Order: sequence, then C-alpha cells, then structure tokens
Amino acid sequence: MNQQTLKNAYSFQGPGLHTGKTVHLRLCPAPADTGIVFVRTDLDGASIPALASMVGSTSRSTHLGSGRVKVRTVEHLLSALTGLGVDNAIAELDGSEVPILDGSAEPYVNAIEPDGLLDQGVPRKCVTVDEEIILRNDKSGAWIKISPSREFTVDITIDFNSSVMGVQKCRFMHADGYANAVAPCRTFCFLHEILPQLCVGLIKGGDLDNAIVVVEKPVPRLFMRLAARVLNKKIPEIPSKGYLAGGGLRFPDECCRHKLLDLIGDLRLCGGMPCFKVEAYKPGHALNTAAAKQILKVAK
Ligand SMILES: [Zn+2]
Repeated sequence: MNQQTLKNAYSFQGPGLHTGKTVHLRLCPAPADTGIVFVRTDLDGASIPALASMVGSTSRSTHLGSGRVKVRTVEHLLSALTGLGVDNAIAELDGSEVPILDGSAEPYVNAIEPDGLLDQGVPRKCVTVDEEIILRNDKSGAWIKISPSREFTVDITIDFNSSVMGVQKCRFMHADGYANAVAPCRTFCFLHEILPQLCVGLIKGGDLDNAIVVVEKPVPRLFMRLAARVLNKKIPEIPSKGYLAGGGLRFPDECCRHKLLDLIGDLRLCGGMPCFKVEAYKPGHALNTAAAKQILKVAK
C-alpha cells in the first residue's frame, strides 16, 4: 500500500468546543513522508506535527503543543484522516482549537471521500509493535492493551456507571467501513457535568448541534437557568432520564462508537498509520495518548 494524500484542499469553519471561538480550518494535500502537521496561520505559520511527543494536555480533549503555540481538540480530525487512509496532510488553522463542527468526524468524511485520495507512489509507513504494551489507570480501573497484528483493529468497552448508557462494547475493523460505522458518531457529555465544566472554562462552544447530552438524573431548575445564562442559550425541555440528541441517536451505541472515534484519533499520534491490535476498557484521552507515546518510542 502506498502513501496517500488529499486530492484537493477543503475548508471548514465553526466554533471550537471548548474555546467557543470561531476558527477557520483548511485541510491541504502534503508531500509524501510529511505525516499530519498543524499550522497556525495566525501565529506566523508556527507548526506542530501530530505526534504523541507533542501532547500538552488531555483535559476533555487532546491538545498538542505548549505555551503560545498549541492546537486543541485534534482527535476528531486525526480520526477522520486515519479512518479514510490519509497519510499526509497539512491542517491550517487561524485559532487555537479545531472547529467541533457537528461533534463527529462525518463532515470531514463527507468532504473528502467523494473525491478519493491521491496515491503518492511511496510505500506507506505502517506503525507496528513487536511486543504487547499494557497501560493501566489503577484509580479508575481503565486499561489499554496494544498487541502485534497485521491489521488495525480496535475493541473497546465503556462504563460510565450510567443507568442510561449501561456498559457498551464496540469494535472497529477496516472492513466494517469507518465512514459509515464510526465517523457519524458525536461527542457527548453528562448533563450534571455541564455547569462544572463551564465553570472551569470548558465547553463554551457546546450545544445540541454538536454534542449528545446524557441525562442521568433530574436536574434542579435553578441549575438549568444558570447553565442557560452562562451559555446564553435557550435550553430545551429536559427529560428526567435519557438522551438529548439533535435528530435522535444515530446508533443505539453512538457514545461507545464516539469513544472508538476518539481512540483512533489519539492513536494516530503514534507516528504513522496504526497497524496493531487495540483493546481498551474505559478509554480516555490521557490513557490513549500515553499509549500513543509508548508506541512512538518502541515502534518500528
Ligand atoms: Zn471526541
């Protein structure tokens, strides 16, 4: 298999999930062996490669870089590029956070897939491992295991101790098709977490157009009035339990599939196209990127 890049440039714009600031993103083709590189056009073209060694923070999303030059919430875009098989691309941004769009990777897939990709005539760099890598978070019980395999496959289990979601398992194999089975799945949060997150300056760009809200328990009216004021948005009638999702859920296990989407994006930071088997229990950005870092160190 040869390396591939985009056939055209593609533009996207919208608020970042956490900053709430409108950002313009332009995805451009790149020469072979470039990998994925983020460029801050508002900072004299300062660039950051999509590598685990560049991870700055994993608070609610994956951030690259440090100090003035950083790019937040890279995982959905990296997931789309990986799922579609894009080896090389430049992502130009005029702000610090990748736009959240509809909270999934579908807008990228819908733009790029119809054009197909450009074969660059140079063999692909598949990232493989010789030995198992296991990382655990003893406090949360979460773990991730990377094993040698000829194909990139991902099996995950999520358990948020949620009576709405329950325990969910889902799997990604290339044959299943990333575009249809993974890309459309949107990010989510719990209703009772919204105000605490807003208080620490997160999810300023969040709304029901770009996130599923899981309602675990009835929420006091005062809380909702406060959230509406902070968000400066009208908040719809809240069920006492269930999902608030624009247009309804796209899959019964959409939340699990979104965690799969995130994990694929985070693991792309391993230095190339992943070619290993992944199993994970309660994956999150910290664990995912720690695994990517470890793979980047030992991979061939
Ligand atoms: Zn996500």
